[in-house]
Amino acid sequence: MRPTFRAMQVASRSISRSKSTSFIGLGRMGYQMAYNLFSKKYAQASDSQFVVCDANPETAHTFCASFSTQYPSANISFVETPEQAAILSSNIITMLPSSPQVKSVYNGSIIPTLQKLHGESPQETFCIDSTTLDVDVARTVASDVSKAGATMIDAPVSGGVAGAMAGTLSFLVGGTEESFKMAFPILSLMGQRIIHCGPSGSGLAAKICNNLVLGVEQIVVAEAMLLGQRLGLDPAVLASVINSSTGGCWASSVNNPVPFSLPGKSPPCERDYDGGFATSLMLKDMGLASNVAEKEGTPLPLGTAARDIYATIVEKQPELSTKDFSSVYRYLEQRVEK
Ligand code: NAD
Repeated sequence: MRPTFRAMQVASRSISRSKSTSFIGLGRMGYQMAYNLFSKKYAQASDSQFVVCDANPETAHTFCASFSTQYPSANISFVETPEQAAILSSNIITMLPSSPQVKSVYNGSIIPTLQKLHGESPQETFCIDSTTLDVDVARTVASDVSKAGATMIDAPVSGGVAGAMAGTLSFLVGGTEESFKMAFPILSLMGQRIIHCGPSGSGLAAKICNNLVLGVEQIVVAEAMLLGQRLGLDPAVLASVINSSTGGCWASSVNNPVPFSLPGKSPPCERDYDGGFATSLMLKDMGLASNVAEKEGTPLPLGTAARDIYATIVEKQPELSTKDFSSVYRYLEQRVEK
């Protein structure tokens, strides 16, 4: 029988807030990350609990219902709002689309809840945000969390959905040394490389710079693979040359946009560009890079051009916006320039 929301919440209240972790944002990345964290730490522990929350309550319910069946001794529950998550748990992990959702979840729900906590110390609350968002927004939210008496770090990830499933993500952490040490054992359950990049916002700064490189590289790999074929080259031969030469990079050796150019591998292009990292998310990250670069007065001639290409794809071929960003190859392939 499907447990009711009220029944789940009542059950969860019997465990103290300090022994409870809430995961908010169960999307393509968050669902897998939450599963790794839950299965490695909470599935067999009767004295602690795991709480999930998503803007789509059905997603949180599905997560909760399937894993409570699989792990009957686990304390797992779902809530419908981040406010309820903050009431129940002193550890809060968020994995949301971008800046507006992080502002809404923290400023609209979690921070006001921390300010109202009576009998429980907000100092115990530790927030980890793994969203890729604007550096300044992240710093401001972390500072507001700190003013409410709690601690927050930015810990965006690299490694994609496959890394989230395998628990091999890289976490790029921005925060104090002490908060990095607090986060390490939690993040290690979802990732393999946990890197302290510096104070608040530094994890995001590193993530945005990395994706700036990636966004540009994926386009130029698509250009080279297209040009090579029009010059008569077999794509597998060309990919093998690039990957054993100075042009080799992740975009060519793992995420090559041409089907069957990487024998033994199956990049998103071999699944009609499904899965992987959505073009719309890459556009968001290129926008984050160009916005912050403008504020810092840093020139990004290639980054801006790449952002404009992703923006054109999303506008003119919206069917590619949810496809992997290597589908830029398909966009270029359909263009004829004489
Ligand atoms: P997604 O859109 O699949 O998931 C976001 C989830 O957040 C959704 O389930 C949505 O319902 C939920 N959500 C939105 N607003 C909410 C709110 N107010 N309260 C509660 N839940 C809310 O996105 P994703 O692919 O999982 O990516 C999440 C973040 O990770 C993004 O910042 C993205 O840039 C970054 N990232 C993604 C990848 C990837 O390969 N997908 C790789 C690295 C980093």
